Amino acid sequence: MTINVTRSSMPGFEEYCAEIKELWESRWLTNSGVKHQQFQAELEKFLGVPHVALYTNGHLALENVIAAMQFEKGTEVITTPFTFASTTHAIVRNGLIPVFCDVNPDNYTIDADKIEVLITDKTVAIVPVHVYGNMCDVEKIAAIAKKHGLKVIYDAAHAFAVKYKGVSSANFGDAAMFSFHATKVFNTIEGGAVCFADDSLVDKLSSMKNFGITGAESVGFVGGNAKMSEFQAAMGLCNLRHLDGEIERRKAVVERYFSHLDGVKGIKLCRTDKDVTPNYAYFPVVFDGFGATREEIFAKLGENGIMARKYFYPLTNSFECYRDFPTAGSGKTPVAAYFADRVLTLPLYADLALEDVDKICEIILNCRR
Ligand SMILES: *Cc1c(COP(=O)(O)O)cnc(C)c1O
Repeated sequence: MTINVTRSSMPGFEEYCAEIKELWESRWLTNSGVKHQQFQAELEKFLGVPHVALYTNGHLALENVIAAMQFEKGTEVITTPFTFASTTHAIVRNGLIPVFCDVNPDNYTIDADKIEVLITDKTVAIVPVHVYGNMCDVEKIAAIAKKHGLKVIYDAAHAFAVKYKGVSSANFGDAAMFSFHATKVFNTIEGGAVCFADDSLVDKLSSMKNFGITGAESVGFVGGNAKMSEFQAAMGLCNLRHLDGEIERRKAVVERYFSHLDGVKGIKLCRTDKDVTPNYAYFPVVFDGFGATREEIFAKLGENGIMARKYFYPLTNSFECYRDFPTAGSGKTPVAAYFADRVLTLPLYADLALEDVDKICEIILNCRR
């Protein structure tokens, strides 16, 4: 038997079929059809944001919204290396220089107290990441951005349905990107969105994700193609109906993990900050002084068919493709490097049996020498 680190949530087969049935009549499969419009409106309401632009994946949403800010090439963006390749790639593919800030040891998000020393006269933006569903210090980041005139674009790929003091994660910064990839808490198969308040971005993003087309017979700029299809939007409409139950069941799994692992010597679990309503996206465990290394536990779980993940490892600032940036090197972010070397994310999805959680924890605890 294999237990993967995640398993996509899906609506009932009949429910999805009913949702896509009318597409066989309309024969309108993409380019802002009925499902796309409906899904966009439902998300705007659910997230409480003025605007949502839907994308075929989260990465292109992030890449496009950074491009839409029209920063001068070669300027600097402060971000963190404790993230998925996508975040840093989105900055670099826009011709900008990533400047890596260390993370805070409590929730692995950007250490807001270490941002200001990295600001130079070339800094234009901050791209923080809400890691594992924990939220960044959004208030401190907003204050720094205001003081220095910087844009803030959140990679909120892990933080769909997460709230800070009752306000959805979609509402912080100049823009927030969500990923609706199959492995996320909420999926549209592949998919993503960017949320924002600035009205002027509506038409801009809509053209950017459609070849730069600005009118029936005009192409205003060089754009790519990143539109969400009707089938993806239909999946989103269905999954949104079941989101609350999905999160509830994830919560039960997380509580079961806590019941076995909390307080064990050499194990550090991540607690939700008091102002945050969590989505239970990931279950990270940090091993230090446990009596077995992360690598040993990873291997032992693997032998038993349990696929944990070294997430995030390696850090993006140690990627080979960034080696020529003077800002690269994991030595500059020692806290992030420490966690990247010791963290494992354990299997977590809504229908993971609690007995399987017991088994996973037993294997881990038996690794101690
Ligand atoms: C999943 C993810 C992305 C990219 O999203 P896609 O929809 O797969 O393109 C970006 N950043 C983080 C932190 C992610 O986990």
